[in-house]
Amino acid sequence: MTSQSQQQPLADRIRPESLDEFIGQEHLVAPGKPLYQAIHSGKIHSMIFWGPPGVGKTTLARLIAKAANRPFFALSAVSASKDDVRSIVEAARRERNGHQDLFSSLEPRKQGGAILFLDEIHRFNKAQQDFLLPHVEDGTLVLIGATTENPSFEVISALLSRSQVFVLEPLTVADLERIVRRGAQQLGVTLTDEAAAFLAEYANGDARQGLNLLEATANLYATEGVPLTLDNLKDALQSKHLRYDKQAEEHYNTISAFIKSMRASQVDAALYYLARMVNAGEDPKFIARRMVIFASEDVGMADPMALVVANEVFRAVETIGYPECQINLAHGTVYLARAPKSRASCDAFFEALEDVQKHGNLPIPMQIRNAPTKLMKELGYGKGDDTDLLPDRLKGKRYYSGS
Ligand code: ADP
Repeated sequence: MTSQSQQQPLADRIRPESLDEFIGQEHLVAPGKPLYQAIHSGKIHSMIFWGPPGVGKTTLARLIAKAANRPFFALSAVSASKDDVRSIVEAARRERNGHQDLFSSLEPRKQGGAILFLDEIHRFNKAQQDFLLPHVEDGTLVLIGATTENPSFEVISALLSRSQVFVLEPLTVADLERIVRRGAQQLGVTLTDEAAAFLAEYANGDARQGLNLLEATANLYATEGVPLTLDNLKDALQSKHLRYDKQAEEHYNTISAFIKSMRASQVDAALYYLARMVNAGEDPKFIARRMVIFASEDVGMADPMALVVANEVFRAVETIGYPECQINLAHGTVYLARAPKSRASCDAFFEALEDVQKHGNLPIPMQIRNAPTKLMKELGYGKGDDTDLLPDRLKGKRYYSGS
């Protein structure tokens, strides 16, 4: 193994090289399923992978590119600029023309466009996505986008309509146990059953998370001939070696401090945590999305305008992007922190939901059912007074206690 590959994290070193090594996501990769077909036929179209981190989105894109025998370019929408996309388009054109001249009759498969894998595609704003469109339309690029966010909201409809969306699931505990055991084999260590089970749980659906903890633990505690134990894993978790998890922890602690500060109407604290997130390069849409939820959950009917403001912040963030959108985020933060608070609508809804789950679908009172036919009218549909429209079992029940 070269020194360069030694430096790569374990998760990258054991990235599956073929579908045989790919674990889970059977709904996509089992024989006959769409990505199995794509990989075996080499025939591919633009597609978007939607799923949580560390479940194989990048890996699948690479396997598809390899099978299709096309040039492969990878970008992350977090850091890529228009120039990066432009130079990939140019390189893809050169490849295409070159192949047409040399191989047009010999290797027709090579005539397809180059594959552009665009990670975190939701981080491209509308203008950046628009820029990609003509190159996808004319076949210069086959786009494989990956996103952790719902593409219906985050990907422009013109790109969406040219792509097939595939949903990846969090990996199961059993999948993860197989993956960490493969990782251990690669590192030349063994795991007690308890340690393997812990790693699979700790990974929380994300293979990279499990493999990172395994690697950090092996670096600290691997001893020839002795398996790594649950205690080793727990000790490693306490140590400073887990940069990845520290970052993830910081990310969740800060957004949670931000929400709590707005909830406590502490404008200054809310602005401070906002500044920390902006400074760390946090996805502005991630912040704005939380603000939209907060506007209904915590401000609610005490100031219905909050939802309008938060939504506009989201829209501004989407169309403007960093750095200017930090001003919109600040504006919205001050508004939400200073707004009066009421959780009444949200709490009432969840109480109603509890009744739905407890009682199932109770019969809807006759007087508010549609009575489209004569027979139904005769049966009493649409009749009766409408003093209380709840189902009989729940008559008199009150969920909403606000004004
Ligand atoms: P994503 O793009 O979904 O964030 P990756 O495909 O980059 O995730 O996965 C990160 C690493 O985790 C891979 O290099 C591989 O080692 C491991 N991994 C992820 N998903 C799988 C899987 N389904 N089967 C086997 N290994 C996986």
